[in-house]
This record gives sequence, C-alpha cells and structure tokens, in this order.
Amino acid sequence: MKRTNTFAVRPLTGDDEQILRDLLDACAALWNEINYHRLMRYNDEDGFKGDVWDADTGALEGKYKAVLGASTAQTVRRANSEAWRGFFENKKAYHDESNTSVTEHPEPPGFRGNEDDGRVLKGVVRKDAYTVEWGDRSRLEMVVGKELRDRHNSPKSRLRLEIVGDPNWPNYEDQSRLELWYDETDSTFRASQPVTVSDDEQATPLADETAALDIGANNLVACTTTTGEQYLYEGRELFQRFRETTREIARLQSKLEEGRYSSKRIRRLYQKRTRRRDHAQDALCRDLLDRLYAGGVDTVYIGGLTDVLETHWSVETNAKTHNFWAFKKFTERLATTAEEYGISVEVRSEAWTSQECPQCGSTDRTTRHQDTLTCPCGFEGHADLTASETFLRRHQKSQISDWRTRREASRQRQTEQAVRPMARPVRFEWDDHNWSESPRSHRPKEQRTDPSTVHKDGNVASEESQTG
Ligand SMILES: [Zn+2]
Repeated sequence: MKRTNTFAVRPLTGDDEQILRDLLDACAALWNEINYHRLMRYNDEDGFKGDVWDADTGALEGKYKAVLGASTAQTVRRANSEAWRGFFENKKAYHDESNTSVTEHPEPPGFRGNEDDGRVLKGVVRKDAYTVEWGDRSRLEMVVGKELRDRHNSPKSRLRLEIVGDPNWPNYEDQSRLELWYDETDSTFRASQPVTVSDDEQATPLADETAALDIGANNLVACTTTTGEQYLYEGRELFQRFRETTREIARLQSKLEEGRYSSKRIRRLYQKRTRRRDHAQDALCRDLLDRLYAGGVDTVYIGGLTDVLETHWSVETNAKTHNFWAFKKFTERLATTAEEYGISVEVRSEAWTSQECPQCGSTDRTTRHQDTLTCPCGFEGHADLTASETFLRRHQKSQISDWRTRREASRQRQTEQAVRPMARPVRFEWDDHNWSESPRSHRPKEQRTDPSTVHKDGNVASEESQTG
C-alpha cells in the first residue's frame, strides 16, 4: 500500500535554517527556469523552438547542481516533467465529454513565485538522497550541494534537521521522493514522505458491524451503523462558500478580455476552493473512520446519489461541478482512508430512494422540505439520517435473507446483528480545521413521531419540549 507520512522539520541552528531556505529557494528557482522554457514552447513564443520536451533541461540542471546536488536537481526536473504530463492528461480528459473526472479547465504548471516578490520555498529530495529516523531524536538527513555546504561553512556532507510529529506509518518497506516546503501560515517547514507499507500494517476491524452512508451537499455525510449510532456531518456552510467562490470565478471570467481564459485571481480562487474542499473532506474521512473503527465496523455501504443531484444541483451547476464537489473523489478518498483501517467500502448504485418513509414504506407520498422528510402517515424525521437508516436496514434485510437460505442454523446470530435501536444522532460542524460536535448535537430539530422508530432514549420528549 502507498501511504504518506507528514511531519514538521526544525533546523537546529540559524545556519541550518539558512541552508534549508537557500536549498528550497534554489529548487523553486530551477523549477521556474525549467517551467519557463517549457511554457514558452507550449505557448509557441518567438524564439522557442519545438515542444515542451525539447527544452534543454540538462543545461539548467547543471547550473544548479553545485547548490542542490545532482540528485536534487534531477528530481526537480522530474517533478516538473510529471506536472506537465499530468497537465496534458487532464487537458485530454477535460475535452473528452464522456470523461467527467476533470472538472476545471486545466492550466499548465505554474511558477513558484518570482525573484522580486519572493519564491515559494518548495523542493524535492530524491528517494535515495535522504533518511528519516524516528526515535528519541527524530531526524531527517539529506543531501545538499557542495556550494551550499561551503557557503555556510558546513563540513557535513548531509544536512541534519530535527523532525517533529507522529508519523502514521513509522514502519515502511520503501520510500519515494520527499517533498519539503515552508508553510507561511504558521512559519514552519514541513515535509511529506510517501512510503510503501506492507499489508500487515493495515488495521483489523474489531467486529463485523456495518455502516451505511448517505452523501450529499448540504449534509456531507449522514451515517447510520448497526450498533445504533448516527452521525451527521453538516456541509451547508462549506457548500455555501463553494458556491460563492464558483460564482465569483464566473464573474471574473466574464470580465476577461477577449482571447484570455484565465487570470492570476481566477487561478487563486480555484486553488482556494480546491484546498478548502480537500481539507474538509480529508478531515471528515479521518474523523468518521476513526469512529466507525472504534465501533467495530468492517463494511461501509455508500448509497446512490440521485437525490442530491436532483434537488440541489441541477439548476445552478453543470454535471462536471456535481463531481467536483463530492461524489467520485470523496468516495475514493473514503475508500483509501478506510483501507488503512481494514474497513471495506462498497458503493451500491442500485436504485434506492431517500424519499422512502421508514414507517409505511411509501416513496411517492413523502415530501422533503429542507432537512425534514414528512409522510401523511405521520412520520417526520431528518431526511438524510432517515435515508442512511433505510439504506442500512434494507441492506441488512437482504443480507439476512441470503444468509437464511444458505445457512439456516446461523440465523440467530445474524438476526442479532440487525440494526439496533438508534442513539441520539451526533452532529458535526466544520470550523476550517476540525469537525467538532455541533452545539445543536443534543437538540435535534426533528424527532420521529412514530413510537416504533423514536430513538430509545427517555430524554427525547423533554428535549422536544425545550426546543419546540
Ligand atoms: Zn409513511
């Protein structure tokens, strides 16, 4: 399995810090030079001949060898080549109508700042040119060029830096190239180390419980487990900001001069939007799977997403944007994170509707207003939580009947595994850093009115009278 360790890097002396800065600055400078030569060819500028791969990167590498070391100079060039290859692939996918995986108009690889305004301190170290050691004195040692060592009067051939953090994967079989950068938001050097870990490192589920997820835009995830837990990750605010940024991008695009397709501001907004989404989604996957793992879940079912597409999206956005916000990528993200926990993720695209009333089974008489699903039979509940619960029960039922035909004797055990009575749902809100329990968590707006589905919790009635 491919995994990534991330950690903070602390130079021990002022000299070491300067070496690290110079190294990352030179990495950025080399990246920029290579990128410039490629971009000029891509744009067919006068005086630049051939296509992007014709740029004389060897000469540029040579120019930086003394500062970076040959291996790092080579790695910067490779990283830039990969960025260009990725760009060409995305461009192809973007223009292929049958392919909805690329949702933004791809841009050629960008520059890492410039000399006048300051370069973006970011670099790479070849897989065999660094070592990471965790222990009492955790440290990173890496190659730097001769000129850099001389300039800072450092006789050591390798630069040694202290590292801080708690690696997810301390035991690995192999490492790939290290990425190093300076994070301006908290004035810290950071590194990410991709590693290959053995399958034995994967966790084993604690029991064989099941969870079902309903994924949406306003509520990113509604989850019900066979242990009777319900989780709701609220996405309304994130989604709102996503739409505002999307609208702002459209506004700026409409003001571009003819023949121009993008601008620095537009690119920044795209990046900001992507970073915000990725951060929230990564944290959600981690938070949810921590909980599910602790609850003994070994299988997660993800249901169809038709409802979301129809009710929230069709008017303002196109099909590509649907995908952008959540579904395909988010499902992949969930599956990757789940793999670390040994939990399997299964997407069930079979038609199941979130409009089904759990009380009478009707699907055409129910109505959804914002988060509430109501039915003429008297049912009223949180629409997304109800959907995940219905999905879970339906799935459990089919599992049980399969089981019965196969092995009558095990029926008892399976029946016990059916969904247990529901605990009060836990709601989570995103605060730009963490998903934390919402203050509304213990005062859900909607409660079930049917006694057979009301949460088996004596406080429901009193809570209701407090909030109602
Ligand atoms: Zn009903």
